[in-house]
Amino acid sequence: MDIDTVTGFRRARDRADLLLAPGERILGGGTWLFSEPQPEVTGLVDLTTMDWEPIVVRPDGGLEIAATCTIAELAAFGESTGRPLFAQCAHALLASWKIWHTATVGGNVCRSFAAAGMVALCVALDGVAHVWTPDGTDRRVPVAGLVTGNGTNALAPGEVLRALELPAHALAGRTGFRKIALAELGRSGAVLTGRVDAGGGCVFGITAATAAPSVLRYPALPGTGRLRADAGALPGYYTDPLGSADWRRQVSAVLLAEIHEELAA
Ligand SMILES: Cc1cc2nc3c(=O)[nH]c(=O)nc-3n(C[C@H](O)[C@H](O)[C@H](O)COP(=O)(O)OP(=O)(O)OC[C@H]3O[C@@H](n4cnc5c(N)ncnc54)[C@H](O)[C@@H]3O)c2cc1C
Repeated sequence: MDIDTVTGFRRARDRADLLLAPGERILGGGTWLFSEPQPEVTGLVDLTTMDWEPIVVRPDGGLEIAATCTIAELAAFGESTGRPLFAQCAHALLASWKIWHTATVGGNVCRSFAAAGMVALCVALDGVAHVWTPDGTDRRVPVAGLVTGNGTNALAPGEVLRALELPAHALAGRTGFRKIALAELGRSGAVLTGRVDAGGGCVFGITAATAAPSVLRYPALPGTGRLRADAGALPGYYTDPLGSADWRRQVSAVLLAEIHEELAA
């Protein structure tokens, strides 16, 4: 789509270039920005020209995923390193080949749709957002807390997501995944994840079904009944054309129990 309000375009080369003038927006892959009218946008600042390394493996085994890493790059990295959750969450995104290869991980998190597959991944793996603020300082916030609703987040105007950090302890855990949608190729109605760490601690994530991510943590695998009850008691299940709140609540509890069974085996 042509965005006919846009009269300016800048390619960012360093951090100073990311100071936005009124009306300017960060451009990631542009798959959402160019998909609908943006009447308030008068200029775009291309983040992809920052030339960040897409994925950096830290000495402790943790990962730093640049905001500009594409969803396809991240899925391929997960496949090559034996981490099925990466591709599973990438496939939770309803997307054509073109979107997969253009959309950035950062753009997916910053767009903050409830059905954001990269948010699901970060919720499952204790992902932390590394944010550049316009005053030149940095801040870090768990992605599960950054996304505040279906399409809303806690980024202040002018803040730029620099990277997503996945800690080594979470990457070493065993994971499970389920996704359900009302239509075979429909956008996710519920995305469920689970992870058990070496020490037995576990975390279950619910995205797409609740407007903002929901996280259940336990020091050890709980009984299935408790997990189902805890999932059912969560607030935030919502109704839209992709599913009713009651349906989302029920399928979340059932699919989390399936993940529990897998992780307990
Ligand atoms: C057909 C179709 C299907 C889609 N299906 C899904 C789906 O199933 N789930 C889903 O979640 N989304 C979906 N989307 C929306 C969108 O394509 C994805 O969320 C995509 O991952 C956005 O990434 P992008 O890099 O293209 O972001 P862009 O379109 O470039 O940007 C999205 C928003 O994030 C901001 N932004 C981007 N990067 C940063 C950054 N690093 N720091 C601060 N702000 C930033 C932009 O200013 C803009 O507001 C779909 C879109 C289309 C057209």
